[in-house]
Amino acid sequence: MSLLEVKNLKVHFPVTRGIFKRDKRVVHAVDGVSFDINESETLGLVGESGCGKTTTGRSIVKLLKATSGSIFFDGEDILPLKRKQLIHFRKKCQIVFQNPYSSLDPRMTIGSILSEPLKSLTSMSRRERTDRVAALLNEVNLSPKFLNRYPHEFSGGQRQRINIARALSVSPKLIVADEPVSALDVSIQAQIINLLQDLQAKFKMAYLFIAHDLSVVKTLSHRVAVMYLGKIVEIAPTKTLYAEPMHPYTKALMSAVPIPDPKKERLRKRMVVSGEIPSPIDLPSGCTFHPRCPFAKERCRAVVPILRKLPNGSHASCHFAEELMGK
Ligand code: SF4
Repeated sequence: MSLLEVKNLKVHFPVTRGIFKRDKRVVHAVDGVSFDINESETLGLVGESGCGKTTTGRSIVKLLKATSGSIFFDGEDILPLKRKQLIHFRKKCQIVFQNPYSSLDPRMTIGSILSEPLKSLTSMSRRERTDRVAALLNEVNLSPKFLNRYPHEFSGGQRQRINIARALSVSPKLIVADEPVSALDVSIQAQIINLLQDLQAKFKMAYLFIAHDLSVVKTLSHRVAVMYLGKIVEIAPTKTLYAEPMHPYTKALMSAVPIPDPKKERLRKRMVVSGEIPSPIDLPSGCTFHPRCPFAKERCRAVVPILRKLPNGSHASCHFAEELMGK
């Protein structure tokens, strides 16, 4: 049994337009997403901003209300759970937010920030909480001497370590890491990714690692899912996806990742997709990628492709995935 099973998850937001707000429309932020995560596994979730990856992550931790579908965690459907019933779930599933600057309360000391989940979700005594907080700071390679300092006294990388320590405090089975490195310098990004890897090796928790860049998720993820306009368009084991991307959108994302060898970088063919991501209010017909896809044919405009298993072990939603192999 998987630790997390997301089935046909939809998160739609009603919006109104016009002076009299009579034009009622729906934003299809997440539009039928299904995937699972096993214990101690990392699933990378990648896509351009606005594709629905953050909304997916926030629905899983119940910060956003799902419109329909189901989310099973440890065999239990968590969507119907009410506030009081969520305590047990929150101990097992935590989130690390994208922005290390805004996600820590500037008026609280690091000690209070790290104690908070222990106070609300466990029955630890004050003494036990203090010991736990000191141990957590050690785990993320920060000194326990920092307990009485405030967030503004730390760099972005250090603040993200504190965020990770907070998520780790209740020993969760799953951490949703929502673009945890995208606000950091490249050198610091590598340190945070290494830290997450070390913590996973030690504590065996699973990650849903959300990022907008395929290069960021490569080292950490066991499998990678690519999202476009609220849907997963490809999901595959990391090695397979990087060796042989099957969906044209994945190929385009891949060709935007720089190669460290300048010779190879000069010679490689780039696949550029034209135009902007369409509005999730007015979704294109058929394959939602067709207005930007260089391989689109008549069928793509009329028929919605389903996510299907391909000979290389990937799942992709493209009518012509086999024909386009290697292009
Ligand atoms: Fe492109 Fe058609 Fe495949 Fe969609 S189904 S990705 S438009 S080739």
